[in-house]
Amino acid sequence: MGTQPYHDRDGFIWYDGALVPWRDAKLHVLSHGLHYASAVFEGERAYGGKIFKLTEHSQRLADSARLLGFSLPCSVDDVDRATDEVIRANAIHDGYVRPIAWRGSEMMGVSAQSSKIHLAIAAWDWGSYFTEEARLKGIRMRTSPWRRPAPESAPVHAKATGLYMICTLSKHQAEAEGWHDAMMLDWRGQVAEATGANIFLLMPDGRLHTPVPDCFLDGITRRTVIGLARARGLDVVERVIMPEEVGHAREVFLTGTAAEVTPVGQIDEHRFTPAEVTRMLTEDYRAVTGQRQVQAA
Ligand code: PMP
Repeated sequence: MGTQPYHDRDGFIWYDGALVPWRDAKLHVLSHGLHYASAVFEGERAYGGKIFKLTEHSQRLADSARLLGFSLPCSVDDVDRATDEVIRANAIHDGYVRPIAWRGSEMMGVSAQSSKIHLAIAAWDWGSYFTEEARLKGIRMRTSPWRRPAPESAPVHAKATGLYMICTLSKHQAEAEGWHDAMMLDWRGQVAEATGANIFLLMPDGRLHTPVPDCFLDGITRRTVIGLARARGLDVVERVIMPEEVGHAREVFLTGTAAEVTPVGQIDEHRFTPAEVTRMLTEDYRAVTGQRQVQAA
C-alpha cells in the first residue's frame, strides 16, 4: 500500500457492527474521543491470516475501556469475531489490526456520561515496524525528556490514546535528532519502556532484566518473550532498573506487537551489539507467531 494515506484506501472497516467501505469509516469532529482523549485501542498482528493472541488483545481493549469508565458496545467474543471478519474481508495474510473504541458526539464537554460508545476495527498488510537495516544493527535510542506518569496521574494500565501524547512528542524529538526511537523513564526516574514497546536488558550476570510494569503497559509480547526466555533456561528478573545501569548491558532489545523483538544498538552514549540471546528470542518469537524462520545463525 506504500504511502497511500490511511483514509484513502480500498477495503472494508468494521464500524459499529457492520463492515463499511474503507473510505466511509468517518466520525464527527465534535466526538468526545477527539477532544478529550476518551478512546482506547489495540495493536495486533496477523501472521498467515491468524491474529496472534487475539482474545488477549480483545480482552485488553475491554479492560482499557473499563479503566476509562466505559464499556465496549459488545462482548470480547464479539470483538474476536468482528476482528476475524475484518481480516477475511480484506484478505489480510501478514498484517496489522487496529481496533479503537471512543466516546461519540452526543455531549460536548468534559462530562460525556450519555455519549454513545463507538467501536471500529481496521486491518492492513504491514511488514516491519523498523527498517530491516535498523533491525540488523540494532536501533538507536535516546532518553526522552518526557516521563511515564504515576498511576495516580493517569490510567497507566489502559492502552488509551491520551497516554500516547508524550510518546509522539518523545519519538518526534528523537527522530528530529537522527535517532530511531526514545527510551522513556518513569515519574521516579526509573527505566520504563520505549514509545511503543517494552525493554529488556541482558546484564553481565547472564540474566535478562526488565522493568516492573507498574506504570506502563505489561505488553502481551513482553509476557510472551518472558515465557520464551524461561523455556530456554534463561533467568528473567523483573525489577527496578535505573538509567545508570543501562551502560552495563551486554544486549538490549525491545518487545511489542509492532516491534516484535527489535535489537537495540545504542541508547544515548552506550553501544550494544545484538548477539546470541537477542537472536535466539527473535527466532523463538518468529516460531511462536507462526512465521517462517529467516536466518539459521
Ligand atoms: N508499551 C507501549 C507504550 C506500547 O504502545 C506497546 C504496544 N502496544 C507496548 C508497550 C507493547 O505491548 P504489546 O506487546 O502488547 O503490543
